[in-house]
Amino acid sequence: MLPRDMVFRELGLWPVWRERREEGRAPDAAHQDEVAAKGRWTDWDSLSQAVVSCTACKLHQTRTQGVLGVGDRHAEWLIVGEAPGADEDAQGEPFVGQAGKLLDAMLAAIGLKRGENVYITNVLKSRPPGNRNPEPDEIAACLPYLLSQIELIRPKIILALGRFAAQNLLQTDETIGRLRGRVHRFQGIPLVVTYHPAYLLRNLPDKARAWEDLCLARRTLSSLTPESCNETSA
Ligand code: URA
Repeated sequence: MLPRDMVFRELGLWPVWRERREEGRAPDAAHQDEVAAKGRWTDWDSLSQAVVSCTACKLHQTRTQGVLGVGDRHAEWLIVGEAPGADEDAQGEPFVGQAGKLLDAMLAAIGLKRGENVYITNVLKSRPPGNRNPEPDEIAACLPYLLSQIELIRPKIILALGRFAAQNLLQTDETIGRLRGRVHRFQGIPLVVTYHPAYLLRNLPDKARAWEDLCLARRTLSSLTPESCNETSA
């Protein structure tokens, strides 16, 4: 068993999710049950279907739709945010509101474009009402989707936006201030932590620090020198 699975089991959070379809079961239902029992989805179709129909936590009662993610499913870059907001809940795509515009600008500043070699998702796939913080049971119910996405995409670098993404991927309570500025590993994949774009919209001076984080991430992936990242900023 993987160390992460052992952690989940220790926490009583494993297996987290089981398919509840009883009627009209697909021919591969046995396989799907097995995958669901492990808390993993090994293909995009069943993963998307699971997110769309997920009732694993109370958020399904208030969301418009589950928001799986957007972008290149073979991307080198995986961007992980917190949870869909009102715009994302309505449109079914992560980061399409004001924070999303800033995220797009941040990506552009390091030569990236939404959908091209980048996949964007969130820890939670359903919107918390009123944009409140995700709650621990909601995160526990949703994490298997993110873990499945990481296994399917196999990104070369993960950029964690904000404390919910960083703390849950790294299984730590450390603050963003302590987590940013260095390269972590998630299952061997380099992971860089930076501020959430919604935070940056309210704290403009920290954009300079976010820029350093983006440079660190890009440098980690492409071995660019620090100097080559000094010219423009988001
Ligand atoms: N904030 C997030 O963390 N994710 C989104 O998709 C939108 C806003």
